[in-house]
Amino acid sequence: MEFHVMTLFPEMIVQGLSTSVLGRAIARGIISLNAVNIRDYTLDKHKRVDDYPYGGGAGMVMSADPVVRCCRSVFEKIEEKKRGEGKEAGRRRVIYLTPQGRTFSQEMAREFAKEEELVFLCGHYEGIDERAVEMVVTDQVSIGDYVLTGGELAVMVVIDAVARLVPGVLNNGDSAEFETFHDHLLEYPQYTRPEVYEGRAVPEVLLSGHHAKIEQWRRQQSIERTRALRPELLERAVKEGLV
Ligand code: SAM
Repeated sequence: MEFHVMTLFPEMIVQGLSTSVLGRAIARGIISLNAVNIRDYTLDKHKRVDDYPYGGGAGMVMSADPVVRCCRSVFEKIEEKKRGEGKEAGRRRVIYLTPQGRTFSQEMAREFAKEEELVFLCGHYEGIDERAVEMVVTDQVSIGDYVLTGGELAVMVVIDAVARLVPGVLNNGDSAEFETFHDHLLEYPQYTRPEVYEGRAVPEVLLSGHHAKIEQWRRQQSIERTRALRPELLERAVKEGLV
């Protein structure tokens, strides 16, 4: 799967996503990351990419032209690659990270993970000229109801959550499937060695070797934990007949 990120700070994206699980997946060619600097697409002789807002007000607004030109260049690159592979150029999703978007969720991550490539747009300053948003953006996604200085941290959150669902990115194929938010439940508590830590013992059932009993205990723990911490999720699980 290919991730293309349009940003004013490509180094932040590359550094942030090149370690650990995702770094290994990139090195093994399971996913690819193309961070593109929007500033490279400005025609301004001083390399400016922002300007004062019409109508006045605080801060600066990212100009439409560098964003649109950057996006067209990313599309050309994708199309060229597809032609080389003898594939049709399909629908392209351009996701703008913005506090005004739909709140990102595991469901959305699963939906995005079905795509062959995703193009992301990061804003900065007061945001992006609305005309560029209208012209290139297909989805608007927020990572929560708070305001960040830029879309870079947000896009890293989204790419991390999507990439780990791509087959082969995690070593153990099962681990992305049976964890928190599967069936709208939180995951059961996990333990590792030692068996007793500062007087706290691992629940006995986990040492029993009895798989059916362990599964039953874990399922019960998941339900109890969801009831205590996220009752609205449990309600949803019950409504959908998953519990
Ligand atoms: N003036 C904008 C508003 O009130 O909607 C906020 C702009 S914010 C300071 C700058 C950029 O950070 C945004 O264009 C967006 O790309 C990113 N951003 C800020 N908060 C975000 C969030 N919760 N989720 C995703 N992106 C966010």
